[in-house]
Amino acid sequence: MPIQILAEDVVAQIAAGEVVERPAAVVKELLENALDAGASNVRISIQGDGRRKIQVSDDGCGIPADEVELAFARHATSKLRETNDLYRIHTLGFRGEALASIASVSQLAITTRHESDNAGTLLRLEGGQVRQRRSVGAPRGTTVTVENLFYNTPARLKFLKSENTEKRQIATIVTRYAMAYPYVRFTLEQDGREAFRTHGSGQLLDVMVNALGLDQIKNMFEVDDTHLNIHVYGYTSAPSYNRSDRSRITLFVNGRWIQDTSLTYAVVQAYHTLLMTGRYPVAVLLINVAPDEVDVNVHPTKAEVRFRDSDAAFSAVQRAVRRAVIEQAQTPTLRGRLSNGNADHVWNPRSEPVQMGMNLKLKDTGQPAIRQHADAPDEDTEIPEGPHGPARPRTLPMLRVIGQVGASYIVAEGPAGLYLIDQHAAHERVLYEQFMAEHAQKEAISQYTLAAQTIQVSPPEARLLEENLPILQELGFEIEPFGPNVFVIRSVPAILADGDPIETLAGIVDDLVQGNKPGQEAIEDRIVLRVCKQAAIKAGQVLGLEQMQGLIRQLERCQSPLTCPHGRPTMIHMSSEQLAREFGRI
Ligand code: ADP
Ligand code: MG
Repeated sequence: MPIQILAEDVVAQIAAGEVVERPAAVVKELLENALDAGASNVRISIQGDGRRKIQVSDDGCGIPADEVELAFARHATSKLRETNDLYRIHTLGFRGEALASIASVSQLAITTRHESDNAGTLLRLEGGQVRQRRSVGAPRGTTVTVENLFYNTPARLKFLKSENTEKRQIATIVTRYAMAYPYVRFTLEQDGREAFRTHGSGQLLDVMVNALGLDQIKNMFEVDDTHLNIHVYGYTSAPSYNRSDRSRITLFVNGRWIQDTSLTYAVVQAYHTLLMTGRYPVAVLLINVAPDEVDVNVHPTKAEVRFRDSDAAFSAVQRAVRRAVIEQAQTPTLRGRLSNGNADHVWNPRSEPVQMGMNLKLKDTGQPAIRQHADAPDEDTEIPEGPHGPARPRTLPMLRVIGQVGASYIVAEGPAGLYLIDQHAAHERVLYEQFMAEHAQKEAISQYTLAAQTIQVSPPEARLLEENLPILQELGFEIEPFGPNVFVIRSVPAILADGDPIETLAGIVDDLVQGNKPGQEAIEDRIVLRVCKQAAIKAGQVLGLEQMQGLIRQLERCQSPLTCPHGRPTMIHMSSEQLAREFGRI
Protein backbone atom coordinates (compact mmCIF):
# COMPACT_ATOMS: atom_id res chain seq x y z
CA MET A 1 0.00 0.00 0.00
CA PRO A 2 1.24 3.51 -0.73
CA ILE A 3 1.76 5.83 2.21
CA GLN A 4 -1.27 8.01 2.95
CA ILE A 5 -2.29 10.35 5.70
CA LEU A 6 -5.11 8.65 7.59
CA ALA A 7 -8.65 9.97 7.41
CA GLU A 8 -9.77 12.01 10.41
CA ASP A 9 -12.25 9.42 11.72
CA VAL A 10 -9.65 6.63 11.57
CA VAL A 11 -7.17 8.78 13.49
CA ALA A 12 -9.87 9.52 16.05
CA GLN A 13 -10.64 5.85 16.57
CA ILE A 14 -6.99 4.93 16.95
CA ALA A 15 -6.59 7.67 19.53
CA ALA A 16 -9.79 6.57 21.25
CA GLY A 17 -8.28 3.11 21.66
CA GLU A 18 -5.71 4.59 24.02
CA VAL A 19 -7.99 6.75 26.13
CA VAL A 20 -11.24 4.78 26.23
CA GLU A 21 -10.38 1.13 25.89
CA ARG A 22 -13.32 0.08 28.06
CA PRO A 23 -16.51 1.43 29.68
CA ALA A 24 -14.79 2.06 33.01
CA ALA A 25 -12.38 4.38 31.21
CA VAL A 26 -15.31 6.45 29.94
CA VAL A 27 -16.60 6.76 33.49
CA LYS A 28 -13.17 7.86 34.62
CA GLU A 29 -12.83 10.58 31.99
CA LEU A 30 -16.33 11.96 32.54
CA LEU A 31 -15.80 11.98 36.31
CA GLU A 32 -12.54 13.87 35.92
CA ASN A 33 -14.28 16.47 33.78
CA ALA A 34 -17.02 16.92 36.38
CA LEU A 35 -14.45 17.34 39.15
CA ASP A 36 -12.37 19.74 37.07
CA ALA A 37 -15.55 21.78 36.56
CA GLY A 38 -15.73 22.26 40.33
CA ALA A 39 -18.83 20.15 40.88
CA SER A 40 -20.08 19.53 44.40
CA ASN A 41 -22.55 16.87 43.27
CA VAL A 42 -21.75 14.15 40.78
CA ARG A 43 -24.25 11.51 39.79
CA ILE A 44 -23.18 8.48 37.76
CA SER A 45 -25.71 6.10 36.34
CA ILE A 46 -24.84 2.96 34.43
CA GLN A 47 -26.79 0.30 32.62
CA GLY A 48 -25.28 -3.17 32.63
CA ASP A 49 -21.55 -2.94 32.21
CA GLY A 50 -21.81 0.54 30.70
CA ARG A 51 -21.83 -0.42 27.05
CA ARG A 52 -25.54 0.34 26.74
CA LYS A 53 -25.49 3.56 28.69
CA ILE A 54 -23.28 5.68 30.94
CA GLN A 55 -24.55 8.97 32.25
CA VAL A 56 -22.61 11.45 34.36
CA SER A 57 -24.26 14.62 35.68
CA ASP A 58 -22.58 17.40 37.58
CA ASP A 59 -23.38 20.83 38.95
CA GLY A 60 -20.04 22.30 37.91
CA CYS A 61 -19.35 25.42 35.87
CA GLY A 62 -20.77 24.07 32.58
CA ILE A 63 -19.54 24.85 29.06
CA PRO A 64 -20.31 28.19 27.39
CA ALA A 65 -22.84 27.82 24.54
CA ASP A 66 -20.36 28.90 21.89
CA GLU A 67 -17.71 26.38 22.99
CA VAL A 68 -19.73 23.18 23.18
CA GLU A 69 -18.79 21.88 19.72
CA LEU A 70 -15.19 22.82 20.34
CA ALA A 71 -15.08 20.63 23.44
CA PHE A 72 -15.45 17.64 21.08
CA ALA A 73 -12.57 18.60 18.80
CA ARG A 74 -9.36 16.64 19.38
CA HIS A 75 -6.76 18.44 21.49
CA ALA A 76 -9.33 21.01 22.58
CA THR A 77 -9.02 21.97 26.22
CA SER A 78 -9.64 24.91 28.52
CA LYS A 79 -7.06 23.65 30.99
CA LEU A 80 -3.79 24.32 29.26
CA ARG A 81 -2.40 27.03 26.97
CA GLU A 82 1.32 26.51 26.60
CA THR A 83 3.90 23.82 27.28
CA ASN A 84 4.96 25.41 30.53
CA ASP A 85 1.44 24.97 31.87
CA LEU A 86 2.14 21.25 31.86
CA TYR A 87 4.32 21.77 34.90
CA ARG A 88 1.69 23.54 36.95
CA ILE A 89 -1.35 21.39 36.29
CA HIS A 90 -4.08 21.78 38.88
CA THR A 91 -6.71 19.82 36.97
CA LEU A 92 -7.20 16.12 36.37
CA GLY A 93 -7.56 16.57 32.61
CA PHE A 94 -5.30 18.54 30.29
CA ARG A 95 -4.90 16.51 27.12
CA GLY A 96 -8.15 17.62 25.51
CA GLU A 97 -8.75 14.14 24.14
CA ALA A 98 -11.41 12.50 26.23
CA LEU A 99 -14.62 13.98 24.86
CA ALA A 100 -13.40 13.65 21.27
CA SER A 101 -12.37 10.04 21.84
CA ILE A 102 -15.55 8.98 23.62
CA ALA A 103 -17.74 10.72 21.01
CA SER A 104 -15.94 8.99 18.15
CA VAL A 105 -16.90 5.51 19.39
CA SER A 106 -20.42 6.09 20.72
CA GLN A 107 -23.70 7.92 20.41
CA LEU A 108 -23.35 10.81 22.79
CA ALA A 109 -25.58 13.58 24.10
CA ILE A 110 -24.44 16.50 26.21
CA THR A 111 -26.63 19.02 27.98
CA THR A 112 -24.72 21.83 29.53
CA ARG A 113 -25.27 25.33 30.82
CA HIS A 114 -22.40 27.61 31.74
CA GLU A 115 -22.89 29.67 34.84
CA SER A 116 -22.97 32.92 32.82
CA ASP A 117 -25.43 31.69 30.14
CA ASN A 118 -29.20 31.94 30.46
CA ALA A 119 -30.02 28.89 28.40
CA GLY A 120 -28.35 25.54 28.12
CA THR A 121 -27.22 23.69 25.02
CA LEU A 122 -28.06 20.19 23.90
CA LEU A 123 -25.70 18.56 21.43
CA ARG A 124 -26.00 15.08 19.97
CA LEU A 125 -23.15 13.30 18.23
CA GLU A 126 -22.82 9.97 16.52
CA GLY A 127 -19.40 8.51 15.82
CA GLY A 128 -18.00 11.97 16.49
CA GLN A 129 -20.28 13.75 13.98
CA VAL A 130 -22.68 16.40 15.28
CA ARG A 131 -26.27 15.30 14.50
CA GLN A 132 -28.29 17.81 16.46
CA ARG A 133 -27.86 21.03 18.39
CA ARG A 134 -30.44 23.11 20.17
CA SER A 135 -30.99 25.46 23.03
CA VAL A 136 -32.65 23.95 26.10
CA GLY A 137 -33.56 24.94 29.61
CA ALA A 138 -31.06 23.33 31.99
CA PRO A 139 -29.64 23.80 35.48
CA ARG A 140 -26.05 24.98 35.79
CA GLY A 141 -23.73 22.11 35.07
CA THR A 142 -23.30 19.32 32.60
CA THR A 143 -24.87 15.96 31.83
CA VAL A 144 -23.12 13.64 29.41
CA THR A 145 -24.93 10.52 28.21
CA VAL A 146 -22.91 7.92 26.34
CA GLU A 147 -24.91 5.21 24.62
CA ASN A 148 -23.94 2.15 22.60
CA LEU A 149 -20.26 2.41 23.28
CA PHE A 150 -18.06 0.86 20.55
CA TYR A 151 -21.11 0.42 18.28
CA ASN A 152 -18.95 1.41 15.32
CA THR A 153 -15.82 -0.52 16.38
CA PRO A 154 -17.15 -4.07 16.75
CA ALA A 155 -13.63 -5.49 16.97
CA ARG A 156 -13.13 -3.69 20.27
CA LEU A 157 -16.24 -5.22 21.77
CA LYS A 158 -14.59 -8.62 21.55
CA PHE A 159 -11.81 -7.51 23.87
CA LEU A 160 -14.04 -6.38 26.69
CA LYS A 161 -13.88 -8.17 29.98
CA SER A 162 -16.91 -9.88 31.45
CA GLU A 163 -19.86 -7.74 32.43
CA ASN A 164 -19.22 -8.28 36.13
CA THR A 165 -15.56 -7.35 35.90
CA GLU A 166 -16.51 -4.13 34.19
CA LYS A 167 -19.20 -3.30 36.74
CA ARG A 168 -16.77 -3.86 39.57
CA GLN A 169 -14.13 -1.76 37.87
CA ILE A 170 -16.59 1.11 37.49
CA ALA A 171 -17.51 0.95 41.15
CA THR A 172 -13.81 0.92 42.05
CA ILE A 173 -13.15 4.01 39.99
CA VAL A 174 -16.05 5.93 41.51
CA THR A 175 -14.95 4.91 44.99
CA ARG A 176 -11.42 6.12 44.33
CA TYR A 177 -12.52 9.54 43.20
CA ALA A 178 -14.87 9.77 46.16
CA MET A 179 -11.88 9.20 48.45
CA ALA A 180 -9.77 11.81 46.72
CA TYR A 181 -12.66 14.31 46.78
CA PRO A 182 -14.41 13.90 50.11
CA TYR A 183 -16.08 17.31 49.74
CA VAL A 184 -17.95 16.16 46.66
CA ARG A 185 -21.18 14.20 46.95
CA PHE A 186 -21.09 11.12 44.70
CA THR A 187 -23.94 8.84 43.76
CA LEU A 188 -23.46 5.72 41.68
CA GLU A 189 -26.52 4.01 40.30
CA GLN A 190 -26.15 0.65 38.57
CA ASP A 191 -29.23 -0.63 36.71
CA GLY A 192 -31.47 1.77 38.57
CA ARG A 193 -30.20 0.74 42.01
CA GLU A 194 -28.01 2.90 44.17
CA ALA A 195 -24.71 1.08 44.51
CA PHE A 196 -22.62 3.70 46.31
CA ARG A 197 -23.08 7.12 47.79
CA THR A 198 -21.06 9.65 49.74
CA HIS A 199 -22.23 12.70 51.61
CA GLY A 200 -19.63 15.27 50.74
CA SER A 201 -18.80 15.94 54.39
CA GLY A 202 -15.19 16.63 53.54
CA GLN A 203 -14.01 13.80 55.79
CA LEU A 204 -12.04 11.04 54.10
CA LEU A 205 -13.04 8.82 56.99
CA ASP A 206 -16.73 9.13 56.11
CA VAL A 207 -16.02 8.10 52.53
CA MET A 208 -13.97 5.16 53.72
CA VAL A 209 -16.78 4.00 55.95
CA ASN A 210 -19.01 3.96 52.87
CA ALA A 211 -16.39 2.30 50.72
CA LEU A 212 -14.86 -0.28 53.06
CA GLY A 213 -17.44 -0.74 55.78
CA LEU A 214 -17.21 0.03 59.47
CA ASP A 215 -15.63 -3.24 60.46
CA GLN A 216 -12.50 -2.63 58.47
CA ILE A 217 -12.23 1.04 59.36
CA LYS A 218 -11.82 0.14 62.99
CA ASN A 219 -8.49 -1.39 62.07
CA MET A 220 -7.13 1.68 60.31
CA PHE A 221 -4.85 4.38 61.72
CA GLU A 222 -4.85 7.98 60.63
CA VAL A 223 -1.76 9.19 58.76
CA ASP A 224 -0.96 12.88 58.70
CA ASP A 225 2.59 14.06 58.22
CA THR A 226 4.52 16.61 56.20
CA HIS A 227 8.12 15.96 55.29
CA LEU A 228 10.23 17.82 52.70
CA ASN A 229 7.13 19.82 51.65
CA ILE A 230 5.23 16.66 50.86
CA HIS A 231 2.00 16.23 52.78
CA VAL A 232 0.81 12.67 53.29
CA TYR A 233 -2.66 12.22 54.64
CA GLY A 234 -4.98 9.24 54.93
CA TYR A 235 -5.40 5.92 56.66
CA THR A 236 -3.28 2.81 56.96
CA SER A 237 -4.04 -0.50 58.56
CA ALA A 238 -2.99 -1.85 61.91
CA PRO A 239 -0.39 -4.59 61.40
CA SER A 240 -3.00 -7.14 62.45
CA TYR A 241 -5.19 -6.20 59.47
CA ASN A 242 -3.39 -7.25 56.32
CA ARG A 243 -3.76 -8.83 52.90
CA SER A 244 -1.94 -11.31 50.74
CA ASP A 245 -1.25 -8.75 47.98
CA ARG A 246 -0.59 -5.05 47.51
CA SER A 247 -3.82 -4.31 45.70
CA ARG A 248 -5.39 -2.61 48.68
CA ILE A 249 -2.77 0.10 48.83
CA THR A 250 -4.44 3.07 47.16
CA LEU A 251 -2.43 6.17 46.40
CA PHE A 252 -3.37 9.62 45.14
CA VAL A 253 -1.04 12.39 44.12
CA ASN A 254 -2.65 15.82 44.08
CA GLY A 255 -6.10 14.29 43.84
CA ARG A 256 -5.14 11.91 41.07
CA TRP A 257 -5.18 8.14 41.63
CA ILE A 258 -1.86 6.69 40.59
CA GLN A 259 -0.05 3.42 40.31
CA ASP A 260 3.48 3.67 41.58
CA THR A 261 5.57 0.68 42.52
CA SER A 262 8.09 2.74 44.41
CA LEU A 263 5.55 4.53 46.62
CA THR A 264 3.65 1.30 47.15
CA TYR A 265 6.91 -0.22 48.32
CA ALA A 266 7.39 2.76 50.64
CA VAL A 267 4.12 1.86 52.35
CA VAL A 268 5.07 -1.81 52.62
CA GLN A 269 8.54 -0.89 53.85
CA ALA A 270 6.99 1.16 56.65
CA TYR A 271 5.72 -2.10 58.14
CA HIS A 272 9.18 -3.64 58.18
CA THR A 273 9.33 -6.23 60.95
CA LEU A 274 5.67 -5.59 61.77
CA LEU A 275 4.17 -7.82 59.09
CA MET A 276 5.03 -11.34 58.15
CA THR A 277 6.59 -11.80 54.73
CA GLY A 278 3.98 -12.13 52.04
CA ARG A 279 1.48 -9.99 53.94
CA TYR A 280 0.65 -6.41 52.94
CA PRO A 281 -1.15 -3.52 54.57
CA VAL A 282 -4.33 -1.80 53.46
CA ALA A 283 -3.90 1.94 52.94
CA VAL A 284 -5.51 4.98 51.38
CA LEU A 285 -3.07 7.88 51.11
CA LEU A 286 -3.50 11.33 49.64
CA ILE A 287 -0.09 12.72 48.76
CA ASN A 288 0.07 16.44 48.06
CA VAL A 289 3.05 18.21 46.54
CA ALA A 290 3.57 21.46 44.69
CA PRO A 291 2.35 20.92 41.10
CA ASP A 292 5.76 21.75 39.67
CA GLU A 293 7.30 18.94 41.71
CA VAL A 294 5.51 16.28 39.73
CA ASP A 295 5.18 15.50 36.03
CA VAL A 296 1.69 14.18 35.28
CA ASN A 297 2.22 13.90 31.54
CA VAL A 298 3.98 10.55 31.40
CA HIS A 299 1.09 8.17 30.79
CA PRO A 300 -1.85 8.18 28.33
CA THR A 301 -4.48 7.61 30.99
CA LYS A 302 -2.48 9.64 33.50
CA ALA A 303 -2.25 6.70 35.89
CA GLU A 304 1.44 7.27 36.51
CA VAL A 305 3.34 10.36 37.50
CA ARG A 306 7.00 11.21 37.83
CA PHE A 307 8.36 13.08 40.82
CA ARG A 308 11.13 15.58 40.45
CA ASP A 309 12.57 14.19 43.67
CA SER A 310 11.37 10.62 43.91
CA ASP A 311 13.54 9.86 46.94
CA ALA A 312 11.82 12.64 48.86
CA ALA A 313 8.42 11.25 47.90
CA PHE A 314 9.50 7.79 48.97
CA SER A 315 10.77 8.85 52.35
CA ALA A 316 7.82 11.16 53.01
CA VAL A 317 5.37 8.30 52.46
CA GLN A 318 7.42 5.76 54.37
CA ARG A 319 7.95 8.08 57.30
CA ALA A 320 4.32 9.16 57.53
CA VAL A 321 3.03 5.60 57.50
CA ARG A 322 5.70 4.29 59.85
CA ARG A 323 4.94 7.01 62.37
CA ALA A 324 1.24 6.35 62.26
CA VAL A 325 1.73 2.65 62.78
CA ILE A 326 4.33 2.90 65.51
CA GLU A 327 2.41 5.55 67.41
CA GLN A 328 -0.96 3.92 67.21
CA ALA A 329 -0.26 0.21 67.06
CA GLN A 330 -2.21 -1.66 69.66
CA THR A 331 -1.88 -4.98 71.33
CA PRO A 332 -3.55 -7.72 69.34
CA THR A 333 -6.61 -8.67 71.32
CA LEU A 334 -8.52 -11.85 71.75
CA ARG A 335 -11.47 -10.10 70.16
CA GLY A 336 -12.87 -12.13 67.35
CA ARG A 337 -10.89 -15.20 68.34
CA LEU A 338 -13.17 -15.88 71.28
CA SER A 339 -16.84 -16.73 71.03
CA ASN A 340 -18.74 -14.25 68.92
CA GLY A 341 -20.78 -13.24 71.94
CA ASN A 342 -18.54 -10.29 72.60
CA ALA A 343 -20.08 -7.57 70.51
CA ASP A 344 -17.64 -4.86 69.52
CA HIS A 345 -18.38 -1.48 70.91
CA VAL A 346 -20.28 0.53 68.35
CA TRP A 347 -17.96 3.02 66.86
CA ASN A 348 -19.10 6.43 65.82
CA PRO A 349 -16.75 8.14 63.40
CA ARG A 350 -17.81 11.61 64.37
CA SER A 351 -17.67 11.52 68.12
CA GLU A 352 -14.52 9.52 68.76
CA PRO A 353 -12.20 9.46 65.79
CA VAL A 354 -9.09 8.98 67.91
CA GLN A 355 -10.43 5.80 69.46
CA MET A 356 -10.28 4.12 66.13
CA GLY A 357 -8.45 0.85 66.28
CA MET A 358 -7.36 1.44 69.83
CA ASN A 359 -8.66 -0.99 72.36
CA LEU A 360 -5.82 -0.10 74.58
CA LYS A 361 -5.73 3.51 75.62
CA LEU A 362 -2.87 4.07 77.93
CA LYS A 363 -3.48 7.53 79.21
CA ASP A 364 -7.08 7.44 80.35
CA THR A 365 -7.73 3.95 81.52
CA GLY A 366 -8.77 5.53 84.80
CA GLN A 367 -7.02 2.86 86.83
CA PRO A 368 -3.52 3.18 88.18
CA ALA A 369 -1.02 0.63 86.99
CA ILE A 370 -0.38 -2.05 89.57
CA ARG A 371 3.31 -1.96 90.15
CA GLN A 372 5.52 -4.33 91.94
CA HIS A 373 8.77 -2.50 91.50
CA ALA A 374 8.76 1.08 92.65
CA ASP A 375 10.13 2.51 89.42
CA ALA A 376 10.53 6.21 88.83
CA PRO A 377 7.09 7.81 89.03
CA ASP A 378 7.08 9.21 85.51
CA GLU A 379 7.51 5.74 84.11
CA ASP A 380 3.75 5.48 84.00
CA THR A 381 3.40 7.66 80.97
CA GLU A 382 6.90 8.01 79.70
CA ILE A 383 9.88 5.85 79.09
CA PRO A 384 12.89 7.70 80.46
CA GLU A 385 16.01 8.30 78.48
CA GLY A 386 18.02 5.14 78.17
CA PRO A 387 21.19 3.96 76.47
CA HIS A 388 19.30 3.38 73.24
CA GLY A 389 17.34 6.57 72.86
CA PRO A 390 15.66 9.62 74.34
CA ALA A 391 12.59 9.64 76.54
CA ARG A 392 9.35 8.93 74.69
CA PRO A 393 5.73 8.07 75.39
CA ARG A 394 5.03 4.52 76.34
CA THR A 395 3.61 2.15 73.79
CA LEU A 396 2.99 -0.50 76.45
CA PRO A 397 1.70 0.03 79.95
CA MET A 398 3.63 -1.14 82.99
CA LEU A 399 2.91 -4.82 83.41
CA ARG A 400 3.00 -6.96 86.53
CA VAL A 401 4.28 -10.45 85.94
CA ILE A 402 2.04 -13.15 87.39
CA GLY A 403 3.72 -16.28 86.17
CA GLN A 404 4.60 -18.54 83.28
CA VAL A 405 2.45 -20.96 81.31
CA GLY A 406 3.82 -24.00 79.50
CA ALA A 407 7.37 -22.69 79.98
CA SER A 408 6.66 -20.52 76.93
CA TYR A 409 4.27 -17.71 77.80
CA ILE A 410 4.42 -15.05 80.45
CA VAL A 411 1.15 -14.13 82.11
CA ALA A 412 0.99 -10.49 83.16
CA GLU A 413 -1.50 -7.97 84.37
CA GLY A 414 -1.72 -4.35 83.30
CA PRO A 415 -4.11 -1.49 83.91
CA ALA A 416 -6.17 -2.61 80.92
CA GLY A 417 -6.48 -6.29 81.72
CA LEU A 418 -4.63 -9.52 81.09
CA TYR A 419 -1.61 -10.03 78.84
CA LEU A 420 -0.14 -13.26 77.52
CA ILE A 421 3.37 -12.71 76.23
CA ASP A 422 5.31 -15.08 73.99
CA GLN A 423 8.69 -15.10 75.71
CA HIS A 424 10.68 -16.02 72.62
CA ALA A 425 8.99 -13.50 70.33
CA ALA A 426 9.26 -10.77 72.96
CA HIS A 427 12.93 -11.40 73.55
CA GLU A 428 13.60 -11.43 69.80
CA ARG A 429 12.01 -7.98 69.57
CA VAL A 430 14.10 -6.67 72.47
CA LEU A 431 17.34 -8.01 71.02
CA TYR A 432 16.49 -6.76 67.56
CA GLU A 433 15.93 -3.20 68.67
CA GLN A 434 19.06 -3.21 70.83
CA PHE A 435 21.10 -4.53 67.99
CA MET A 436 19.70 -2.08 65.46
CA ALA A 437 20.16 0.89 67.78
CA GLU A 438 23.82 0.05 68.28
CA HIS A 439 24.24 -0.55 64.60
CA ALA A 440 22.59 2.75 63.66
CA GLN A 441 24.89 4.65 65.97
CA LYS A 442 27.77 2.94 64.20
CA GLU A 443 28.98 1.84 67.58
CA ALA A 444 31.25 -1.06 67.14
CA ILE A 445 28.92 -3.81 68.25
CA SER A 446 30.76 -5.13 71.22
CA GLN A 447 32.10 -8.52 70.54
CA TYR A 448 32.32 -11.50 72.73
CA THR A 449 35.55 -13.36 72.34
CA LEU A 450 35.48 -17.09 72.54
CA ALA A 451 37.89 -19.89 72.66
CA ALA A 452 38.24 -20.24 68.89
CA GLN A 453 35.74 -22.68 67.42
CA THR A 454 35.74 -23.99 63.89
CA ILE A 455 32.96 -24.76 61.47
CA GLN A 456 33.13 -26.77 58.29
CA VAL A 457 30.79 -26.05 55.38
CA SER A 458 30.30 -27.24 51.81
CA PRO A 459 32.38 -25.61 49.04
CA PRO A 460 29.53 -23.41 47.66
CA GLU A 461 28.61 -22.40 51.21
CA ALA A 462 32.23 -21.55 51.86
CA ARG A 463 32.24 -19.21 48.89
CA LEU A 464 29.05 -17.50 50.07
CA LEU A 465 30.41 -17.12 53.55
CA GLU A 466 33.65 -15.71 52.27
CA GLU A 467 31.80 -13.15 50.15
CA ASN A 468 29.85 -11.99 53.16
CA LEU A 469 32.66 -11.87 55.71
CA PRO A 470 32.83 -8.05 55.58
CA ILE A 471 29.13 -7.74 56.43
CA LEU A 472 29.49 -10.28 59.18
CA GLN A 473 32.47 -8.39 60.49
CA GLU A 474 30.47 -5.18 60.58
CA LEU A 475 27.78 -6.94 62.56
CA GLY A 476 30.24 -8.17 65.17
CA PHE A 477 31.45 -11.52 63.91
CA GLU A 478 35.13 -12.11 63.58
CA ILE A 479 35.53 -15.08 61.30
CA GLU A 480 38.50 -16.19 59.26
CA PRO A 481 39.08 -18.85 56.65
CA PHE A 482 40.99 -21.72 58.18
CA GLY A 483 41.84 -24.32 55.62
CA PRO A 484 39.59 -25.57 52.82
CA ASN A 485 35.92 -24.98 53.65
CA VAL A 486 36.76 -24.50 57.30
CA PHE A 487 36.34 -21.23 59.20
CA VAL A 488 37.38 -20.22 62.64
CA ILE A 489 35.03 -18.09 64.73
CA ARG A 490 36.99 -15.79 67.00
CA SER A 491 34.24 -13.59 68.31
CA VAL A 492 30.51 -12.99 68.03
CA PRO A 493 28.15 -10.07 68.77
CA ALA A 494 27.72 -9.58 72.50
CA ILE A 495 24.06 -10.58 72.47
CA LEU A 496 25.12 -14.05 71.39
CA ALA A 497 27.32 -14.48 74.44
CA ASP A 498 25.12 -17.27 75.78
CA GLY A 499 24.27 -18.79 72.42
CA ASP A 500 25.92 -21.45 70.38
CA PRO A 501 28.11 -19.70 67.79
CA ILE A 502 28.38 -22.75 65.54
CA GLU A 503 24.64 -23.21 65.40
CA THR A 504 24.12 -19.52 64.71
CA LEU A 505 26.64 -19.43 61.93
CA ALA A 506 25.18 -22.59 60.41
CA GLY A 507 21.79 -20.85 60.46
CA ILE A 508 23.25 -17.77 58.78
CA VAL A 509 24.84 -19.91 56.08
CA ASP A 510 21.46 -21.58 55.46
CA ASP A 511 19.83 -18.16 55.19
CA LEU A 512 22.47 -16.98 52.75
CA VAL A 513 22.00 -20.06 50.59
CA GLN A 514 18.25 -19.57 50.52
CA GLY A 515 18.30 -15.86 49.79
CA ASN A 516 18.00 -15.26 46.07
CA LYS A 517 19.73 -12.15 44.76
CA PRO A 518 19.85 -10.40 48.09
CA GLY A 519 21.13 -6.85 48.29
CA GLN A 520 23.53 -5.75 51.00
CA GLU A 521 20.74 -4.52 53.23
CA ALA A 522 18.68 -7.66 52.84
CA ILE A 523 21.65 -9.79 53.80
CA GLU A 524 22.36 -7.69 56.84
CA ASP A 525 18.77 -7.87 57.86
CA ARG A 526 18.64 -11.62 57.55
CA ILE A 527 21.80 -12.04 59.59
CA VAL A 528 20.49 -9.75 62.30
CA LEU A 529 17.19 -11.64 62.44
CA ARG A 530 19.04 -14.92 62.69
CA VAL A 531 21.29 -13.66 65.46
CA CYS A 532 18.30 -12.39 67.43
CA LYS A 533 16.45 -15.65 66.94
CA GLN A 534 19.40 -17.66 68.16
CA ALA A 535 20.15 -15.38 71.06
CA ALA A 536 16.56 -15.13 72.27
CA ILE A 537 15.13 -17.18 75.10
CA LYS A 538 13.52 -20.29 73.65
CA ALA A 539 10.03 -21.55 74.11
CA GLY A 540 10.10 -24.32 76.69
CA GLN A 541 12.64 -22.58 78.85
CA VAL A 542 11.55 -22.17 82.46
CA LEU A 543 12.11 -18.60 83.65
CA GLY A 544 12.38 -17.18 87.16
CA LEU A 545 10.24 -14.21 88.20
CA GLU A 546 13.20 -11.85 88.01
CA GLN A 547 14.03 -12.96 84.49
CA MET A 548 10.45 -12.48 83.36
CA GLN A 549 10.28 -9.05 84.96
CA GLY A 550 13.53 -8.07 83.32
CA LEU A 551 12.25 -9.15 79.93
CA ILE A 552 8.97 -7.27 80.31
CA ARG A 553 10.78 -4.08 81.41
CA GLN A 554 12.97 -4.34 78.31
CA LEU A 555 9.98 -4.99 76.08
CA GLU A 556 8.26 -1.90 77.45
CA ARG A 557 11.20 0.13 76.19
CA CYS A 558 10.86 -1.13 72.64
CA GLN A 559 9.54 1.04 69.86
CA SER A 560 7.42 -1.73 68.42
CA PRO A 561 6.85 -4.03 71.35
CA LEU A 562 3.80 -5.68 69.84
CA THR A 563 5.43 -7.79 67.15
CA CYS A 564 8.58 -9.82 66.86
CA PRO A 565 10.99 -8.78 64.09
CA HIS A 566 9.38 -11.37 61.80
CA GLY A 567 6.04 -9.63 62.23
CA ARG A 568 4.36 -12.14 64.52
CA PRO A 569 2.60 -10.82 67.63
CA THR A 570 4.55 -10.81 70.88
CA MET A 571 1.46 -10.71 73.02
CA ILE A 572 -2.26 -11.17 73.27
CA HIS A 573 -4.29 -8.77 75.34
CA MET A 574 -7.63 -9.43 76.95
CA SER A 575 -9.25 -6.33 78.39
CA SER A 576 -11.04 -6.23 81.71
CA GLU A 577 -14.28 -5.72 79.81
CA GLN A 578 -13.65 -8.79 77.69
CA LEU A 579 -12.94 -10.85 80.79
CA ALA A 580 -16.12 -9.58 82.38
CA ARG A 581 -18.06 -10.30 79.23
CA GLU A 582 -16.65 -13.80 78.88
CA PHE A 583 -17.71 -14.55 82.42
CA GLY A 584 -21.15 -13.14 81.80
CA ARG A 585 -20.70 -10.29 84.26
CA ILE A 586 -21.77 -7.63 81.77
P1 ADP B 1 -9.59 17.85 29.03
O1 ADP B 1 -10.38 17.44 30.23
O2 ADP B 1 -8.30 17.15 28.94
O3 ADP B 1 -9.48 19.32 28.90
P2 ADP B 1 -11.81 16.78 27.57
O4 ADP B 1 -11.94 16.29 26.18
O5 ADP B 1 -12.13 15.84 28.65
O6 ADP B 1 -10.37 17.35 27.73
O7 ADP B 1 -12.74 18.05 27.71
C1 ADP B 1 -12.57 19.14 26.83
C2 ADP B 1 -13.04 20.42 27.47
O8 ADP B 1 -14.45 20.40 27.64
C3 ADP B 1 -12.51 20.64 28.86
O9 ADP B 1 -11.25 21.28 28.83
C4 ADP B 1 -13.56 21.53 29.50
O10 ADP B 1 -13.36 22.88 29.18
C5 ADP B 1 -14.84 21.08 28.80
N1 ADP B 1 -15.61 20.14 29.64
C6 ADP B 1 -15.70 18.80 29.48
N2 ADP B 1 -16.51 18.25 30.40
C7 ADP B 1 -16.97 19.26 31.17
C8 ADP B 1 -17.84 19.35 32.30
N3 ADP B 1 -18.41 18.26 32.85
N4 ADP B 1 -18.09 20.58 32.83
C9 ADP B 1 -17.50 21.67 32.31
N5 ADP B 1 -16.66 21.65 31.26
C10 ADP B 1 -16.40 20.48 30.67
MG1 MG C 1 -11.10 15.53 30.53
